[in-house]
Amino acid sequence: MRLAAIWGVIGIFIYDLVYFGDHTMLPDVFTGLFTVRFLVFTPFVIACILAVRRWPDARLYDVLAVAIAVLGVTLPMAVATQSASPYLFVYQNGNSAAFLFFVIALRPRFFAVLSGLALMCGSHFTTTHLTGAFDDVTYSGIITFYLTLSIFLAGSAYFLEQKDRQNFLNQLRGSLLCQQLERNAERDELTGLLNRRSLARIGGMLWNEAPGETAISAILLDIDHFKRFNDVHGHIEGDACIRAVSQCIRAAVDEAAFVFRFGGEEILVLAPGREPLQALAMAERIRTAIEGLRIMHRGLTDGCVTASLGTASAIAADTTLERLLQKADDALYEAKRMGRNTVVLATDAEPDAQVA
Ligand code: GH3
Ligand code: MG
Ligand code: MG
Repeated sequence: MRLAAIWGVIGIFIYDLVYFGDHTMLPDVFTGLFTVRFLVFTPFVIACILAVRRWPDARLYDVLAVAIAVLGVTLPMAVATQSASPYLFVYQNGNSAAFLFFVIALRPRFFAVLSGLALMCGSHFTTTHLTGAFDDVTYSGIITFYLTLSIFLAGSAYFLEQKDRQNFLNQLRGSLLCQQLERNAERDELTGLLNRRSLARIGGMLWNEAPGETAISAILLDIDHFKRFNDVHGHIEGDACIRAVSQCIRAAVDEAAFVFRFGGEEILVLAPGREPLQALAMAERIRTAIEGLRIMHRGLTDGCVTASLGTASAIAADTTLERLLQKADDALYEAKRMGRNTVVLATDAEPDAQVA
């Protein structure tokens, strides 16, 4: 499609250059040839180029390519039927260029190639016959030549189209694979959450995009007594527990929040645009949701998996990701110290327990 306009212009240029051939070979019908080349065919091709640029549709392109090819063959030959020139045989040879141009340069889809070649052959055979200038042997020679040319062109158009389709699919497969690799490189295998490697990129993005006074909140979570969970239930069940807790967190936070697997059983939520109290509410929602999973923990007396959370918020321009995480980590440490299954909101002073 992109090349169509260029080929169209080159095609018209070459087609109109034949004007000199018209002049020397068929001087008796020169006016007719001049008219069909410059006043009919050239404006028609320009209109086709404009049409495919305006409506870039494959079917329209095929139809117009066939129309150009058939008209290109028919118009001069229709005029030539009125000529008594002795050079008609040489003149009609020129149409082989139109066959080649149609299949190799315009390259419509295979079905259009077949229809176009059939119509071009039909038109060429009829008009050459109507000239009455050829004996049977010459006429059969012309038919044989154009049929052979059409068969070879149709065959090569078929294989070229197959190759084109294969190349297109391979390209598509390649770019999908690349996208998947990029996605996988940023995802944690066990939980499907964002991994630690993606934290720098997303953190940088959040800090760059945050306008002036926007708050960013971090919630750092650590599953309570998880070492004991592994010891009692085994690592396989431990993995399943981390996965269940991760899904539960993903479901408990809003769409705009980024959830990372920060460490073994530590999960980080970055919530852009969330004020401290909103982050605290989100953390409490997460805490109760994990408790609500009621995953049995036989290593504990009350027997259920819980988590401790520390939250910290700051204006993006006033802090760095590292400092925000350090504050959330301090708050988490405080939550552990306070007996676990707790949310602590870091303040600018010492972290305060807000919810227990
Ligand atoms: P605390 O309440 O103080 O957090 O106690 P804890 O036992 O959870 O202590 P800590 O956070 O230090 O222990 C983390 C444990 O998590 C240690 C490790 O065996 C386990 N762990 C880390 N990553 C994985 C994992 O991918 N799968 C499993 N099954 N266990 C993990
Ligand atoms: Mg831990
Ligand atoms: Mg832990």
